[in-house]
Amino acid sequence: MPKLNENYQNLKESYLFSEIAHRVAGYTAAHPDKEIIRLGIGDVTLPLGSLAIQGLHNGVDAMASSDTFKGYGPEQGYDFLRNAISAYYEENGIYVDAEDIFISDGAKSDTGNISELFDTDNVILIPDPVYPVYVDSNLMGGKQITYLAGNADNQFLPMPDKNIHADIIYLCSPNNPTGAVYNRSQLKEWVDYALANEAVILFDSAYEAFITDPKLPRSIYAIEGAKRCAIEFCSLSKTAGFTGTRCGYTVVPRELVFTASDGREMSLHAMWNRRQSTKFNGTSYIVQKGAAAVFSPEGMRQCRENIRYYQENAKMIARTLNHKKIPFFGGIHSPYIWFECPQGMESWDFFDYLLKNAQIVGTPGAGFGENGTRYFRLTAFGTHENTAKAMERFDKLF
Ligand SMILES: *Cc1c(COP(=O)(O)O)cnc(C)c1O
Repeated sequence: MPKLNENYQNLKESYLFSEIAHRVAGYTAAHPDKEIIRLGIGDVTLPLGSLAIQGLHNGVDAMASSDTFKGYGPEQGYDFLRNAISAYYEENGIYVDAEDIFISDGAKSDTGNISELFDTDNVILIPDPVYPVYVDSNLMGGKQITYLAGNADNQFLPMPDKNIHADIIYLCSPNNPTGAVYNRSQLKEWVDYALANEAVILFDSAYEAFITDPKLPRSIYAIEGAKRCAIEFCSLSKTAGFTGTRCGYTVVPRELVFTASDGREMSLHAMWNRRQSTKFNGTSYIVQKGAAAVFSPEGMRQCRENIRYYQENAKMIARTLNHKKIPFFGGIHSPYIWFECPQGMESWDFFDYLLKNAQIVGTPGAGFGENGTRYFRLTAFGTHENTAKAMERFDKLF
């Protein structure tokens, strides 16, 4: 009989989206005439821009002829894409060497897999509430987690506690689910803390393209010293609508070198390269051609147009919450709006209330951690028409 990885017993049942589907199905069965509006989705809805589509087509066409056909590609990704991403960083005033960029099939795989590089004996800080992948991937590996509480007092932007030592720190900014964004001085505090502790920051920047204020950092490498302490995860999912197409990239600077217990130097870049070369055979050439087209000036313009569309929705939601005098977080540099459930309701109760009284589906904050129990997430990924209709209904509540 196999001895199983019993750490899987420590995972909480991932019932968030199935429970939502179950409750919505129950309501629909009882009220077939009611029109339900979904503002709970954490997925883009607009189609890809024409440049990305053209890039994908070019990739497909290359497969049709023996002189352009591609078999296995480099596990780290094609240079044409790594160079395009390096140039994209440079447009934002940040220098990232193409050699340090690893192309993948998305940030979920990389944020989940990165924990393989670290021993179980580490102090690992993970914010709560947060994207559940960091927590679950560490639990699967039998790791202990120290939670960083996000709450209204710290604007859902937990800061380092200098009296506590940490080895590994997960940060997500702009944050899913709260939409909160660290400013430059706050990120500098984290970088300084990480350097002082010889810790590594695992920085999830999946929503960087939603940042519109040029003063806010879109990358951890906007902070001096970050290359000596941080790995950054990015994705084309929310930037370019690639949730179904699949492409992400992770920056592991060669500066990240630490001393092993036997005194030898170990490079995280070399370890990640070995990990990926062993267990991953690269992202599809076709997808990388589509991704490279995204980073062309016209491709990026098309992405920004789609992001602006979502941001209009976020503004509509924000306007309604302001009108209802409900304080909220996010909604400006993020597709997410996060607010405390009105009248002291718990998030699942508010979910039911919103479904029953306004036929709006949102996401209960409890699904993102203990500190989300009394909070709720709405997303800007709907259509203008549905978002407007939903906010009209919301405005009439309580
Ligand atoms: C959507 C999202 C990602 C992107 O994951 P992909 O696998 O690239 O689609 C990463 N991190 C967070 C916090 C997200 O919300």
